[in-house]
Amino acid sequence: MWLRGFSSVPIKEKKKWDALVIGAGHNGLIAATYLARGGLTVAVLERRHVIGGAAVTEEIIPGFKFSRCSYLQSLLRPSIVRELELVKHGLKLLKPLCTSFTPCLDGRYLLLWPNDDQNYLEISKFSKRDADAYPRYESQLHKFCKFMDFLLESHAPETLHGDSYLIDWLRDKLHKSVFWTRCLQHALSLGQKDLVHVEGGMGSVSLAISKAAKEAGVHILTNAEVSKLMIGDSGIVNGVLLTDGEQFCSSIILSNATPYKTFMELVPQNFLPDGFVRAIKNSDYRSGTTKINVAVDKLPQFKSCRLNYPEVGPQHTATIRIGSESMEQIGAACQDAWNGLPSRTPVMEMTIPSSLDKTLSPPGKHVVGLFTQYTPYKPLDGSWEDPIYRESYAQRCFNLIDEYAPGFSSSVIGYDMLTPPDLEREFSLTGGNIFHGAMGLDSLFLMRPIKGWSDHRTPIRGLYMCGSGSHPGGGVMGAPGRNAAHVVLQDVKKRSR
Ligand SMILES: Cc1cc2nc3c(=O)[nH]c(=O)nc-3n(C[C@H](O)[C@H](O)[C@H](O)COP(=O)(O)OP(=O)(O)OC[C@H]3O[C@@H](n4cnc5c(N)ncnc54)[C@H](O)[C@@H]3O)c2cc1C
Repeated sequence: MWLRGFSSVPIKEKKKWDALVIGAGHNGLIAATYLARGGLTVAVLERRHVIGGAAVTEEIIPGFKFSRCSYLQSLLRPSIVRELELVKHGLKLLKPLCTSFTPCLDGRYLLLWPNDDQNYLEISKFSKRDADAYPRYESQLHKFCKFMDFLLESHAPETLHGDSYLIDWLRDKLHKSVFWTRCLQHALSLGQKDLVHVEGGMGSVSLAISKAAKEAGVHILTNAEVSKLMIGDSGIVNGVLLTDGEQFCSSIILSNATPYKTFMELVPQNFLPDGFVRAIKNSDYRSGTTKINVAVDKLPQFKSCRLNYPEVGPQHTATIRIGSESMEQIGAACQDAWNGLPSRTPVMEMTIPSSLDKTLSPPGKHVVGLFTQYTPYKPLDGSWEDPIYRESYAQRCFNLIDEYAPGFSSSVIGYDMLTPPDLEREFSLTGGNIFHGAMGLDSLFLMRPIKGWSDHRTPIRGLYMCGSGSHPGGGVMGAPGRNAAHVVLQDVKKRSR
């Protein structure tokens, strides 16, 4: 038998790996690459037929390539792009002409540029006071970003678990003092990062990482769903069992699946402390997001903003905000979901990546991404399993766009709709939550995924978390994968002493 998917190594020749990664999301791939570069033999096991997890490009409608889940690249750590040489491996970023476009029904619009003077004029159309304040807001945001950069690239200074040698204890103390001192320095010295489109869609990020992974010697298997972790009597992991009965052995396993899926479905419960299981079970995985990927036969023309461009205008390259003209409008959309109903006037973020990237659609036609909110997982007035109910929500979104860009509905060739249950079923995102769990203040940093276990280690020796459910959290940023690999390599070094 041969390794499926990407590799051509006979599986029987490779029974035992230094490390296994469950899931080929971008974080799993990144973790695997750093581990392989650290000298370990590594295999990545992915349940879907494609790699990338929620950072994926798929041709759902013939000729139209969609970034099915994530659609904007703004968070990927520059250190990862540099260290894994992602540009050499094919990552190409496309810069939009404008950053954000908000059309209004009263005929006005707000178009933000990467240019302070133009932004001053744009914001002044609505409020001179806001226009004056905006540069101060931006500069404050930049300072916060510098602080966040440091936090994102550090693994959390968690309490040491179990017995440890004096040397480890001293090292840990030193690590923590350095961490908190640097934290304080950053806090005392206290930006919105640039949003870009990725050529070839978000799957190109994962593809570039997978090329770096393969170059480092990682084996990536698709259509390989892990059904159980194998744990020895001593409580140490010794491998995984796939749904087809195949086994892979290793004493180091990293899970890129959500913490809920990992601990409620893959790890036998009797190996976990009760309090740990309770905390994972009670984590917040609610979601109000439905992504609709639409193929259209022409660009939407916004009636408030007919700039003098023949085809693609700067507004088409921006992130377009529909249904969010006021806080009241956003509040009402949210309230509907609190009442158990999909928003009557959804809040939408629309992107048209084909306005910059000709590789995504046939000439003259376009792909449109609609990140829509708010849609409860289990609506009270119907079911997402009902095709008519689904269609009515999609149509509601298209009709709303028609109000700003007449004719949009009639330009629709086809669409792919991912409600919270679809995101759960197709992408293993528990509850449809796009970040592997809520990113509120009570579930970040030392609290992610739960209090006491923020350093990627888990109560099972040899099992580590490397996905968005671990510090620093969700988004296509890669930091959980990179940080987790560093923790694993530290432990490997310790073990070999
Ligand atoms: C609709 C949507 C829009 C988003 N928009 C953006 C955006 O614009 N910008 C941004 O930065 N972020 C965005 N995000 C968030 C971002 O995409 C995710 O946080 C990130 O991609 C998660 O990466 P990950 O590697 O941690 O996990 P995932 O991408 O979820 O990967 C986990 C992988 O594990 C696999 N897996 C799970 N269980 C098993 C098993 N038992 N056996 C084998 N494999 C398994 C899954 O199939 C999956 O491939 C969005 C997410 C969604 C869903």
